[in-house]
Amino acid sequence: MSPENLKYLLVGVLIFGFLVEKILSFLNVKQPIPAIPKTLLEYLSQDKLKESKAYQLENFRFGLISGVFSFVLTLLFIWNGWFGAIDTWVGTYFENPLIHSVAFFALIFIGSDIISLPFDYYSTFVIEEKYGFNKTTFQTFFSDKLKGYVLSLLIGGGLLLVFLGLIHKMGPHFWWIFWLVAAAFMILINLFYTAWILPLFNKLTPLEDGELKQKIIHYAKSVSFPLDNIFVMDGSKRSAKANAFFSGFGKRKKVVLYDTLLDQHPPDELVAVLAHEIGHYKKKHIILGMITSILQVGLLLFLLSQFIFSETMSLALGGQEWSAQLNIIGFTMLFSPISMVIGIGMNWLSRKNEFEADAFARETFAGKPLAEALKTLSVKTLSNINPHPFYVFVNYSHPPLLQRLQRLES
Ligand SMILES: [Zn+2]
Repeated sequence: MSPENLKYLLVGVLIFGFLVEKILSFLNVKQPIPAIPKTLLEYLSQDKLKESKAYQLENFRFGLISGVFSFVLTLLFIWNGWFGAIDTWVGTYFENPLIHSVAFFALIFIGSDIISLPFDYYSTFVIEEKYGFNKTTFQTFFSDKLKGYVLSLLIGGGLLLVFLGLIHKMGPHFWWIFWLVAAAFMILINLFYTAWILPLFNKLTPLEDGELKQKIIHYAKSVSFPLDNIFVMDGSKRSAKANAFFSGFGKRKKVVLYDTLLDQHPPDELVAVLAHEIGHYKKKHIILGMITSILQVGLLLFLLSQFIFSETMSLALGGQEWSAQLNIIGFTMLFSPISMVIGIGMNWLSRKNEFEADAFARETFAGKPLAEALKTLSVKTLSNINPHPFYVFVNYSHPPLLQRLQRLES
């Protein structure tokens, strides 16, 4: 294929992806406001339902504006060969091809971050603020950004250096060597996320002794779950939205509960939420999820290795010669339909796992408190109780609330 035709293909792929995404969002936001289902009567009022619709509509408009903006910008970059022009320009400063590649990505990363900053800011301080979710201060917002940069520089930069180094030094063998590196890295992050990364952003305090702790310990024993410690995280520092999770592969598991979750739910509901999380572990979802992600990374790396040494993509993006970095950018865009299909498969699997974890909580603890916890959580976060089935199929990692309630309450 000629570089010119490849450029048109890229533009076509991007337009297709953009249209699919926006049409799905449009269908979803156009769903009518339903009558309040019987099971939610005590939790949801007509006003709350309208507020939820307004929140969805606002997010849809925001997504449309930010999406069109970045879409048009990307098209302009491809059409005018600006990626290639930047790459050639960076190349005039660096002789070493590896440093040239890294410098190019650093520039693209910083540029796209500066462009997305006002959108992040608007989403947090205008939309989330308006609906009472935002608890972040300017200080936290910007210190999060700063810490994020340092982390990206250390972790992302390190990985990128290894990745590009392998491409430049190992040629076609780079893909499986980097696959091993990436797999080791993913396992490491999963093991040490709570101990290393989380404390940089949040404060974790051990859960105080009391009824809740006793109940959790008692439940964990009843399903022989190796519980190491229970922490409360100051999620309220950023958002009123709540969550719970646990981490660790091996014998010692740490459970993390958001303080916002503790404030909103009685002990039984919290144990039920935890029982759901433990269900993921008991049903081997965590380990299988890790294996699937590693396989997925391997597949993408292999596909990349089939294309990355060809000159055509570099030329299509406006470069003057073969360039690893231009090819990576180009193929990430070209593979986006494949990534989308993989994403749909992963979401389908994830929804299935959610049902299984719910069923586990119901069998080993109780369905009712979990159903009640889900209702409170969904109503508080103004989540959509009537999403479009297509939208769910493509984007939802969790089944819609009513489907989960139906199974929990049947
Ligand atoms: Zn779950």
